[in-house]
Amino acid sequence: MVIDTPFLHCFLCGCRFGADFESRQGSFVRAWKIVVCARCFAGNRAGPAADHPAIKKLTRQGIAIRPSDRGIVPWPDEGAAQKTGDPAN
Ligand SMILES: [Zn+2]
Repeated sequence: MVIDTPFLHCFLCGCRFGADFESRQGSFVRAWKIVVCARCFAGNRAGPAADHPAIKKLTRQGIAIRPSDRGIVPWPDEGAAQKTGDPAN
């Protein structure tokens, strides 16, 4: 049996990963309608930098971005960030 696994592209780094969220390769950030790979989530636990090109793209798409005073844009979906933050992975 051949399973044709669809692939997703990380919105931050552009890497490709299988669209199988059970394997925790990435997470869907519902509020921003994007997917982010586990590596980007792990490297940006608080959120991506406000001057990241991907964040500017979100702004152009009409997504409300509220950077903190540290220049970090907190992830809108707390649950998603926690899910990929599992050190057992
Ligand atoms: Zn990534």
